[in-house]
Amino acid sequence: MTRDAVVVGGALAGSLAALALTRLEFAVALVEARPAPPRKAGSDGRSISLSLASVRVMESLGLWSALSAEATPITAVHVSEAGRFGHMKLSANDMNVAALGQVVPAEALMAAINEAGANAGVESLCPAEVAETVCAACVRNIKVRTGGGEEILSTRLLVAADGAGSGLREELGICAREQDYQASAWVMTAHVAHPQPGVAFERFTSEGTLAFLPRAGNTMGVVWTLPSRRDEEIALLGTAGFLERVEKAMGGRLGAMKPTAPLRHFPLTGVSARKQTAERAVVLGNAAHALHPVAAQGFNLTVRDVAVLAECAGGNREDIGSRSVLERYRQARRRDQARTQAFTGTARRLGDWQSPLASPLRATGLLACELLRPLARECARQGMGLSPAPLPALVRGARL
Ligand SMILES: Cc1cc2nc3c(=O)[nH]c(=O)nc-3n(C[C@H](O)[C@H](O)[C@H](O)COP(=O)(O)OP(=O)(O)OC[C@H]3O[C@@H](n4cnc5c(N)ncnc54)[C@H](O)[C@@H]3O)c2cc1C
Repeated sequence: MTRDAVVVGGALAGSLAALALTRLEFAVALVEARPAPPRKAGSDGRSISLSLASVRVMESLGLWSALSAEATPITAVHVSEAGRFGHMKLSANDMNVAALGQVVPAEALMAAINEAGANAGVESLCPAEVAETVCAACVRNIKVRTGGGEEILSTRLLVAADGAGSGLREELGICAREQDYQASAWVMTAHVAHPQPGVAFERFTSEGTLAFLPRAGNTMGVVWTLPSRRDEEIALLGTAGFLERVEKAMGGRLGAMKPTAPLRHFPLTGVSARKQTAERAVVLGNAAHALHPVAAQGFNLTVRDVAVLAECAGGNREDIGSRSVLERYRQARRRDQARTQAFTGTARRLGDWQSPLASPLRATGLLACELLRPLARECARQGMGLSPAPLPALVRGARL
């Protein structure tokens, strides 16, 4: 039996792609190496900020009803420079929307996608690992190792969503630019004494960029990006010691903080694949582009990739791995991927900038954005996934 698609990598990107293609009634197998996806609250620890565009895609995929109970709307974003006057504020009102985006716990997002996939009929092979793939006439054959031995899956389209260090990307002969950011994201959640409901904060500090995402019950997701040479020092601080530093860096703005989940550490590497497609194959998620988390764009960009992949695949039901489908996908995604990578790169460089001039210039820049509203609104549109045009059909409200 030839499957329409075999998706390799059952984390956020791969599971979402498998769900979207299954909703179109394609026969899809999802291969994941790890025994079972972590579902326990707090097992991942990240708070994922979903853009308005991502929420619309999830509504179209029938996912949002399961997730909305876990989601906290972002009604404003406040960006500031520690110890200076300059700041910029963007609100949902400015953009004529009810919310700029939504924050969900990573584990809840993963569980909702997996459950919807299982209900839609995604065929799951887990734990199972892909080692090799070869293209034959009109199909791609994929060698999969399971507990019981090896089997060959034949498919019209391989979706390689096997993460930043993607072995399949290499198998497919796709080169990637990799960049060690020499930085780590330190992540936790905390209860704050003086919450500002719905407000997300991004604060440039002399040590690195500190972000707060609103969560339910006066808690907030905290992410602080710090140089990796400080990993040992931060680990020794522990959850409580780290939070004391966070409180101080916020200048008391959110009041006293108490941890509600332990501190976690994510080393950061950037990846940008030179090509998005190969014969009967497409790379997706971190395998295609692993972005720095500073602008919360990584998964949001993937959600739009998945939306367009589904749109292109739906246009050729006989052969979703054909050259015409893949070429349409490649062309359609070029601009958004380049813009989002550039937007994230600028935010990262601004946050990492270490010079005596960095702090006053960043503060002046923020003030300029605050005063020049069209510029601030364009930044907001990018963050909401509503730029550049044309938007994917699922973001415009189409249903699969
Ligand atoms: C601290 C932090 C905060 C973030 N916050 C946000 C945010 O707020 N908003 C946002 O949009 N994005 C955010 N991101 C980015 C987001 O987390 C990533 O875009 C997303 O996790 C990418 O997932 P993925 O499925 O591509 O890759 P991965 O999570 O790396 O998954 C790859 C999967 O492939 C499997 N695999 C690998 N090789 C094989 C094989 N040979 N066979 C079978 N399976 C295999 C692995 O087991 C794994 O499950 C953040 C990232 C970080 C680090």
